[in-house]
Amino acid sequence: MLKINNLHAKIEEGTEILKGINLQINPGEVHAIMGPNGAGKSTLSSVIAGKDSYEVTDGEIIFEGENIIEDAPEERAQKGIFMSFQYPVEIPGVSVTNFIKAALNETRKANGLENLPAKEMLALVREKSAKLDIKKDFLSRSLNEGFSGGEKKRNEIFQMLMLNPKLAILDETDSGLDIDALRIVADGVNEFKNEGNAVLLITHYQRLLDYIKPDFVHVLADGKIIKTGDASLALELEEKGYDWLL
Ligand code: ADP
Ligand code: MG
Ligand code: MG
Repeated sequence: MLKINNLHAKIEEGTEILKGINLQINPGEVHAIMGPNGAGKSTLSSVIAGKDSYEVTDGEIIFEGENIIEDAPEERAQKGIFMSFQYPVEIPGVSVTNFIKAALNETRKANGLENLPAKEMLALVREKSAKLDIKKDFLSRSLNEGFSGGEKKRNEIFQMLMLNPKLAILDETDSGLDIDALRIVADGVNEFKNEGNAVLLITHYQRLLDYIKPDFVHVLADGKIIKTGDASLALELEEKGYDWLL
């Protein structure tokens, strides 16, 4: 599904942050990326999603057989790549539901599909919100306006379930997950996951991996993947830290 070859990227005008990343993600897999602060984890997720504050200087990102390096973030989203906090903006007057309905129909249109009929859309909203224990009044609130950390998280995971991407990239590093938010993410990912899609989970917290079992754990340090293992590697890192690998 995703194949990253020798990816190098830098901040515009700045120093190199990603220094030759190789990563392959197949359908049905969950990959976790861990690593010390400042290693380039968030940069990697942003570069996959196509954020333009970074410049790719070498390598390729192949998604379903196509190099997507030149694609805008919207095009990547329409091809089925979802990134958490893709839509962090506050939009007064636009509700959680109306926003996601518009985003879903936009994606369908880009893929040559008609708008989802209102009745089916309503059924989908009901089904997915029920899975995340989202209440009706939350759905009618203005997008992100005054949302608590947990509410932002819930909205984000709701967006993921509604859009049903092929690849979901969740960067949980900066969000200070409390136990509730952790549950929301874990339940959401476990609900989302199937044999045809994949998850790239970026996290500091081995605890999250108690709830979401990764098939692969990668350690990213100084812009490179320096070790890959299975779920047991996360436990080892929890115990020993990163120094023994550096
Ligand atoms: P991680 O998510 O692993 O903590 P980041 O990808 O956020 O790491 O950052 C990697 C390095 O690149 C850090 O040294 C960080 O300060 C720097 N960096 C990332 N984005 C920017 C930016 N937009 N401007 C300046 N420096 C940046
Ligand atoms: Mg950081
Ligand atoms: Mg980060």
